[in-house]
Amino acid sequence: MNKTLTLGLAGLGTVGGGLVRLLTENAGRHLSVDEVVDHLRGQGEPVGKSTVYRYLDRLVEQFARLPGIGGKSAQRLAFHVLSLTDQEAREFAEAILQAKELVTCCPVCQNLTGGGLCPICASSKRDAATICVVADPRDVAAMERAREYNGRYHVLHGVISPMNHVGPDDLQIRSLVDRVAQGGVEEVIMATNPDTEGEATAMYLARLLRPFGVKVTRLAYGIPVGGHLEFADDATLLRALEGRRELL
Ligand SMILES: [Zn+2]
Repeated sequence: MNKTLTLGLAGLGTVGGGLVRLLTENAGRHLSVDEVVDHLRGQGEPVGKSTVYRYLDRLVEQFARLPGIGGKSAQRLAFHVLSLTDQEAREFAEAILQAKELVTCCPVCQNLTGGGLCPICASSKRDAATICVVADPRDVAAMERAREYNGRYHVLHGVISPMNHVGPDDLQIRSLVDRVAQGGVEEVIMATNPDTEGEATAMYLARLLRPFGVKVTRLAYGIPVGGHLEFADDATLLRALEGRRELL
């Protein structure tokens, strides 16, 4: 048995019980490089011992690129993939490829859709004169859950963030300006998050859209529904006070 891989696997720490079927099927002993090589060769891969590490490293690297996945999690996931049956691994890979191929951006609002116009842009029941600008497709889903908004959307796919090297040209800002410039839009609602980058992006867009004579509004700030005044931070309280409205 190859000691290097044995040590390597043991050193992962987080691998635990869910690891690789290769390991669990060989309960009580560690997996050797020879066995990994045999496993890959069994799938028609002409591999030597050094290439095993290369394949593993490549897989770990891919997982490590995912948001919120650290080095150890990436290793755990890579070994999990190794434990899949050929059929399961193929389904996993195909799901990635098909999602990438078949999920596209709506040419008008840039929300994710299954090709062509998204259902909201295609619907004649939605008010085309109002555009709600959000940072992320998930924000569209959140707004839709409220069942109150009947206008259309524009998805920026991020916010301006100098810290993360995201500038206006990296976002769907040009397409928003083009939409407004075409006319027929009366109000643009800025629904980016009320944090520093969301605020800066909303202000940037407001200035950009001002020459077109559309009303640019911002979602109200305030105390969360069901929340308590005593737990609200100063900035939220101040904004809530500024945004007060007359009752009745
Ligand atoms: Zn659309």
